[in-house]
Amino acid sequence: MPVIPDTMENLKKCICGGCPTHNQCMKDRMEGLFCARGKTDCEFTKKGCICGSCPIASEYRLDKSYYCEIGAA
Ligand code: SF4
Ligand code: SF4
Repeated sequence: MPVIPDTMENLKKCICGGCPTHNQCMKDRMEGLFCARGKTDCEFTKKGCICGSCPIASEYRLDKSYYCEIGAA
């Protein structure tokens, strides 16, 4: 199981902000990097997950999606 460091550098690489599922609640709370920080407390509807295109996913060989729902990798 990879443990992804919750760093500013990794947060900058996270592409959750461009994801259709990343809603206003998540934006208001400036949430992202769910694969490191764990799941959101926001209510949301799944509209697709773009983790597969994220550099963090490649770097740490993540093979799941919806980390905002399932929590940290
Ligand atoms: S894998 Fe997903 S949750 Fe993790 S940093 Fe990338 S876009 Fe964000
Ligand atoms: S974890 Fe996946 S579904 Fe959730 S906001 Fe990030 S890219 Fe979108």
